Order: sequence, then C-alpha cells, then structure tokens
Amino acid sequence: MKRSVSFILLDLAKLRAIKVDIEDNSAWVQAGATIGEVYYRIAEKSKTHGYPAGLCTSLGIGGHITGGAYGPMMRKYGLGADNVVDAQIVDASGRVLDRALMGEDLFWAIRGGGGGSFGIILAWKVKLVPVPSTVTVFTVPKTLETGATKVLNKWQHVAHKIDEDLFIRILITTVNSTKGKKTVQTAYQALFLGKTDRLLDVMNHSFPELGLTRKDCIEMSWIQSVIYIAGYPSNIKPEFLLQGKSLFPTVNFKAKSDFLRVPVPVTGLQGMWEKFLQNDSPMMIWNPYGGMMGKISESSIPFPHRKGVICKIQYLTAWTDGDKKTADKHINWIRGLYEYMGTFVSKFPREAYVNYRDLDLGMNKNANSNFLEASVWGKKYYKNNYDRLVLVKTEVDPDNFFWHEQSLPILPFKVGQDGKSLIH
Ligand SMILES: Cc1cc2nc3c(=O)[nH]c(=O)nc-3n(C[C@H](O)[C@H](O)[C@H](O)COP(=O)(O)OP(=O)(O)OC[C@H]3O[C@@H](n4cnc5c(N)ncnc54)[C@H](O)[C@@H]3O)c2cc1C
Repeated sequence: MKRSVSFILLDLAKLRAIKVDIEDNSAWVQAGATIGEVYYRIAEKSKTHGYPAGLCTSLGIGGHITGGAYGPMMRKYGLGADNVVDAQIVDASGRVLDRALMGEDLFWAIRGGGGGSFGIILAWKVKLVPVPSTVTVFTVPKTLETGATKVLNKWQHVAHKIDEDLFIRILITTVNSTKGKKTVQTAYQALFLGKTDRLLDVMNHSFPELGLTRKDCIEMSWIQSVIYIAGYPSNIKPEFLLQGKSLFPTVNFKAKSDFLRVPVPVTGLQGMWEKFLQNDSPMMIWNPYGGMMGKISESSIPFPHRKGVICKIQYLTAWTDGDKKTADKHINWIRGLYEYMGTFVSKFPREAYVNYRDLDLGMNKNANSNFLEASVWGKKYYKNNYDRLVLVKTEVDPDNFFWHEQSLPILPFKVGQDGKSLIH
C-alpha cells in the first residue's frame, strides 16, 4: 500500500508589492514578485541603480534568493543573496520575524541555504547596486566549423580573470551547419557595464580569439539589457516585465549542474561534443565566475562556490510530449553526459547549485530526514556550510515541519550553548 504524505501548497503570487527607496539604496520586495518586476521597478526610479540577480525574468524572487540567485552582474557585485540586508519570514510556530527578531544564524541560513527548509519568506530587503546609464551587450556564435573548440579552450583561461565589468556566458546548443549537417554552436553572450570603446579595449587585450567587432556591440540601458539577456526579441519593451511571465513556451526539462575549477582539456571538449550531438535538444550554459565571486568567503552565506571556480556548467534537455519513453530518453542522455563530465569538474565534493535541485543526487525518505544521507547532496550544495545549516535547522524547526525531498535534516539531538555538549 502506498503511504500518503500530507503537504501544503502555498501560492504567494499575490504578495507582489515592491517598494524602492533610492535614497536608502534599497528595496523591500514581497516574495511573489518576479525578478523582472523588481528590475523594472528599480529602473523606473533610477537609470543608474540595479540589482544583481537572475537572467530569466519570470523567476519568483521568494525562492530564487533562497538558493543564491546569480546573474550577469555577479562578477561585479556577487549574488542576489549577497545583496540582501533584511527579510521577513514566517517560522514553524507561525511567528513573523524580521532580521532583528530571527537573529543572525537564521538570517545567514536563509540567504543560500535553499528554499522550503526554514520557513516562508514573505519579503526580502535588497541592496541596490550602481549601474552605468549605458551598458553594452553582444552575442557572437562559434560553431565547430568556425573555431568553437579553440575559442572555448581560451575562454576557460580568461573569462573568470577578465575585467569585472564583463560577464561572458556561453550558450551551447546544436544547429544545422551550412553543409546541412548537425553541428555544435557555442554562443558567447555578454553584458558589459560600460560603453563599446572600453569593451573593445578589454576584449582586444584579453580575449582577441573571439574576434569581437564594433558591429557586434549594442549599447542600451541596463533595463533593456535585462530583456536582451533573457533572450527576448529587441522589440519587447521593459513594461513587458510587469506581466511577470516568460515569452517562452512551457516545456518538460531536466537540468543538472557542475562547477569547473580546472579547464577541460581539448580532448575532453571533443568528447563532450560527441555526447552533445547524440541528443535532439541538448543545451549547456557555462557561466563565468571570478571577480567579486572569488572575493566573498565560502562561509559568508551558505552558497559556497567561490574562490577558484572558473565557471558553473548547467546541463539541460527539454521535450514537449508527455510520453514516458521520450522523458526516459532525455533523462538517460543527460545522466550520461554528467557521468562523462565527472572526470573534469570539481571533486570531493562534486559541487552543485542548490537552485537547480537535482533529485538524482539523493532524496529524503518518507517524511524523515537523516543527517548522513542528506549530507550526500548537502555537501555538494553547501560544502562545509552544511553542518552549520543543519544546526540552524535543528534550532529553528525542531519538529521538521518544513520538509521536502531535499530539505535540510534535523539532528536527533541539540548542541548545548557551550557548542560541545549534546542535549537529547
Ligand atoms: C527557466 C529558468 C531560468 C533560471 N535562471 C536562473 C538564473 O538566471 N539564476 C539563478 O540563480 N537561478 C536560475 N534559475 C533557478 C531558480 O533560481 C530556481 O528555480 C528558484 O528556485 C526559482 O524560485 P521560485 O520562487 O520561482 O521557485 P519555486 O519553484 O516556487 O520554489 C523553489 C524552492 O524554493 C522554495 N520557496 C519558494 N518560495 C519560497 C518562499 N517564499 N519562502 C521559502 N521558500 C520558498 C520552494 O518551496 C522550493 O523549494 C532558473 C530556473 C529556471 C526554471
């Protein structure tokens, strides 16, 4: 007989108020607002303020910040979670707490310790960051026939060291080549916090192999760059962000993540292309680190992937029909690619991004959680911050009310105030 597990589904979509205070350099944002709405409301008040969170504008800010929230300004300013100064949360006893009331341990834990473990975030108070009134974007594609392997090889050596104003990510897909054959395409998509002239200087000095020209560069406001980086057509106006939705169709997908600390050798890239060409909708996104990401300590907030990271790799495969066979085919493929990449990516632990929850890494069982079992995925998501997160969880939710497949476990005992003795 199947055991039923009761659960609560909370719809926060109506908690959408956003209060931007330019003088205070901050904004209070309710959890149901999308990040696109947040960006719009900031830009509405000032052309020279922004917030460094995700690229996909339809993400809910409530859950997004709980895992870190990276985006195209992370090399300059860190993550969305690095730029949170206060929050409102409902705890397991139903109390509404702000930073002063929840205390610094819980405030630390909710900024990167993953959603659904500590309580319900009602609102975040975020710190705004300066953006220039003109930024520059570009997208330069390279296929296997036009030097994709050589350019990616170079990117791995420079993208995390280059000027902090520059974020160049790579979107890897397959396309039909001019010869009608399927090939791999690597699209270099960038945001530069400055104008074209300085961008060209930076690129000519550090990454001439991409062959960036003035023609490739488009100057615009920061809010228009949000639309560009999200992949929307250029005729889409910023007001679209207020609709709080994506322009892309809903699909089924499976995603996984890795962090790269040593460049993949050319032979490794060639093997990766072979795997890539075996799927009909493969995608990888390589996001560069370095800059501010390398300057913030691994324990500043629970998100630990900092110094020494070259980039995060996201693997994706999508399908539209509901057929189990189709799903199995895609999931098996992505697991195969992930297995192959194991040779090249971070190890002990093999790090993963908690906002790309991957249930392949393990799951809590039957509404219970176990410190050791959960440490298998917990160490991948949080590294050494896992232990402190479990202590905070045990303290603030001793009955494990906030439970899900990968919620943080509680200890079967409490650590005394001296930090050593155990209370059962
Ligand atoms: C298309 C797409 C693009 C993405 N792009 C980026 C990106 O650019 N950068 C990035 O960092 N991540 C990105 N992500 C990952 C994204 O950050 C996570 O999916 C994140 O969880 C989204 O938050 P949500 O509130 O919309 O999600 P939900 O699915 O609603 O929630 C995710 C988790 O957070 C919990 N949660 C949600 N709201 C709250 C709350 N108010 N209080 C406590 N817990 C809560 C939920 O219980 C759940 O465990 C992307 C994901 C997708 C699907």
